[in-house]
Amino acid sequence: MKVLVWNENRHEKTNAIVTEIYPEGIHGAIAEFLQDDDVQVKTATLDDAQHGLTDEILTDADVLVWWGHLAHDEVADEIVEKVKQRVLDGMGLIVLHSGHFSKIFKSLMGTSCDLKWREAGEKERIWNIDPTHPITEGVGQYFELEQEEMYGEHFDIPTPDELIFVSWFEGGEVFRSGATFKRGKGKIFYFRPGHETHPTYHNKDVQRVIKNAVKWANNTNTPTHVYGNAKPLENILGR
Ligand code: ZN
Repeated sequence: MKVLVWNENRHEKTNAIVTEIYPEGIHGAIAEFLQDDDVQVKTATLDDAQHGLTDEILTDADVLVWWGHLAHDEVADEIVEKVKQRVLDGMGLIVLHSGHFSKIFKSLMGTSCDLKWREAGEKERIWNIDPTHPITEGVGQYFELEQEEMYGEHFDIPTPDELIFVSWFEGGEVFRSGATFKRGKGKIFYFRPGHETHPTYHNKDVQRVIKNAVKWANNTNTPTHVYGNAKPLENILGR
């Protein structure tokens, strides 16, 4: 399986706290734990030519992981359109944290994807509410992040195909933290944790969920459907 990890990589260049937590960038940290014998990982960032999302690179990727925050508007519309087409054609997409406001996620959801937020470094308890789902394999009833940004409901997304995780925050809010969607042949997973000033992507449970999600989103079952006017498969004309 070939995975492409995309990161806007801007906080890493301007915020010393983020650089200390992720010396190789958020994309570097995610690539490192995803890489194994079955998974080939490449990375791409906003400032690469064509944001590192050329036709060749996109065609080659089975699953794309997306982290963005400060610079959603700088992602070119024509590249977003190409990414969307690849998802509809069967590429998996994992959208992380503030990627809820990325052009690609909003375009695929068709809603504002807005939410409540608060940066107070509070505890997040992430409940596993679908213990039969492959994305929760190896995850207990819940896991905790000692410090995270709060995201709260209402989260303006379409009703998910599957709701996998629900978060509780110390300040009292709850949030649909793990949700799946299908668009065309593409499988999409939104996963909430990952504020840049907390070491969230070094957490073993977070890593396990993202690893599971990448495997789940790799859609190898993509028969080529033919659309439009169709000849009958049985002799219904000479009856
Ligand atoms: Zn954040």
